[in-house]
Amino acid sequence: MILKVGIFKEGVVEQLQTSYNPRELDLEFVDLHYLKKVDLEGSAERIRNTVTFRGILESQIEQVCARCLEKNQSPVRAPFELTYDAQGKETIDTTADLRDILLLEHPDRFLCKPDCSGICETCGINLNQESCSCKKTKFQTGKIRIKRKNK
Ligand SMILES: [Zn+2]
Ligand SMILES: [Zn+2]
Repeated sequence: MILKVGIFKEGVVEQLQTSYNPRELDLEFVDLHYLKKVDLEGSAERIRNTVTFRGILESQIEQVCARCLEKNQSPVRAPFELTYDAQGKETIDTTADLRDILLLEHPDRFLCKPDCSGICETCGINLNQESCSCKKTKFQTGKIRIKRKNK
């Protein structure tokens, strides 16, 4: 969201609402997908040369478990508060900061549950759902870590 500094009157809280296409925010990853738009509800206020922008970002995501590779859907709810120096500026572009706030919500390595059993390295079955008779090998954590594309 681009805040136009000129619309702010000293001490008057402006209500702000918008939604983003996840692609606009560059939120497309190998192991994490946004299933719907990112809704923003918030407010901004200017006191002297400082603009405070606060609110909440909400959406729904699908993540792939790093161990068993199952897809898992969950809501995202990220409250935020950003402050900007508005001195000498006509506009403040908050988009990159909002993206960062969402990225902080996502773990580097998502697990469907803390003790996910993963998949059998030999036969490939999901060990959370079935067991197999393959030779037991100790599960190697981090072996199928998926590197997230990050600009
Ligand atoms: Zn899992
Ligand atoms: Zn097996």
